Amino acid sequence: NVGAITADMIDTLSKKSFPLCMQNIHLSLKQNHHLRHGSRLQYGLFLKGIGLPLEEALKLFRMEFTKGMDVDTFDKKYSYGIRYNYGKEGKKTDYTPFGCMKIIMNNPPAVGDAHGCPFRHFDTEFLKQRISSNKIPKEGVETIMKYTKGGHCQVACAKYFELTHGISDSSSEVEMFIQHPNQYFEQSQKLLN
Ligand code: SF4
Repeated sequence: NVGAITADMIDTLSKKSFPLCMQNIHLSLKQNHHLRHGSRLQYGLFLKGIGLPLEEALKLFRMEFTKGMDVDTFDKKYSYGIRYNYGKEGKKTDYTPFGCMKIIMNNPPAVGDAHGCPFRHFDTEFLKQRISSNKIPKEGVETIMKYTKGGHCQVACAKYFELTHGISDSSSEVEMFIQHPNQYFEQSQKLLN
């Protein structure tokens, strides 16, 4: 259904089909009505990749940001970057959404940042809390944490996918391979629709 995605669908989609990295940025946007540069880039390109048109992306960010600033400030300071992601400003490059390796290896988040990969960059207890709140059985949470502690972020992410989509149990081998947040989204949508 690519192309038919609108700003008001993002909340629901984020809960059902976004990988944890993008869920986290979305949550941060809703809570803080703001995102720093690293998140605007990682999230903005992901949203473009799932088929959110530029006008809808502007609407989504404007809706949240203007809870904390006026529309003029938003338009002056932030709309450029959103259009830039869509290749409408600057070098007019149609930028590609980041894959997992790039998110895991580059540009680690500082305090107050929401970008990055939760399986790599979250504090262990915080990650555990976050995944526990997603109706995953206790043993499943332990399995995910085991992969995370072993440094296998993408395997942990795949296990998280499998458990939240009811396609494996807590102790079975991980079958999926997650290499891109947009791939995660597409596979989820395929299963759910
Ligand atoms: Fe996102 Fe990839 Fe990390 Fe999963 S493994 S949370 S898709 S960066």
